Amino acid sequence: AGTLFVVATPIGNLQDLTPRALQVLRDVSLIAAEDTRHSARLMQHFGIATPMTACHDHNERDKGQRLVERMLAGDDIALISDAGTPLISDPGFHLVRQAREAGIKVSPVPGACALIAALSAAGMPSDRFAFEGFLPAKAHGRQQRLRALLEEPRTWLVYEAPHRLLDCLRDMQQVLGAQRRVLLARELTKTFETLHAAPLDELVAWVAADADQQRGECVLVVEGAPEPEADEVSAQALHVLDLLLAELP
Ligand code: SAM
Repeated sequence: AGTLFVVATPIGNLQDLTPRALQVLRDVSLIAAEDTRHSARLMQHFGIATPMTACHDHNERDKGQRLVERMLAGDDIALISDAGTPLISDPGFHLVRQAREAGIKVSPVPGACALIAALSAAGMPSDRFAFEGFLPAKAHGRQQRLRALLEEPRTWLVYEAPHRLLDCLRDMQQVLGAQRRVLLARELTKTFETLHAAPLDELVAWVAADADQQRGECVLVVEGAPEPEADEVSAQALHVLDLLLAELP
């Protein structure tokens, strides 16, 4: 049987396509792309002539079965999305799952990923972190999700659309407080790349004052909530101990 290669493509700067990705995209029988027209530009830039087929959220389950059959018959296939790493807030989950269930070898070809790029340059604790994908688009749902994240002690990240950035930051300020530090990573690897960290009240004012900051693609990196004080932890532990003791004969 063939292999399914899960190939990361650039998030802006085309030089971020790795030599191995280039080789794999040239060698496979077929490239399954989120949007073949979008990816045609990348293929043209690198002179890759491999046939492409569309594999996106709306056809992935049916398409997946057909692609699995081709791989069972011996073809290698590469999965790509419009930008960055497939399956990271991008299609590919169903295809990868179907391939694995069929016993097909799935091999990652790692490369650009906006959340990892932002985290690597944020200077916030990164030994543990959480990725929350896109927050809900409407204010009510977004605020609800933010409240659930209020006490998250790890650094956490979200993707945001440019036209929602300011609303999102204002909701963050309201729910997480004016002093919580957030880093805005915008247009990573591109000409107008900007990384700017500030407490939320300052960041909101900074973005509101400059329409340029409300354009392009962005990642928000949010500093985690302070860990509970040591005596709070032990108070909690004593409470649990009380409960356990009450259960003992
Ligand atoms: N699969 C991609 C990855 O590996 O990062 C993410 C795809 S998701 C549909 C697109 C979102 O990723 C954008 O809305 C933005 O939040 C983030 N993103 C992608 N490219 C970016 C860039 N160059 N700079 C900042 N954020 C970016």
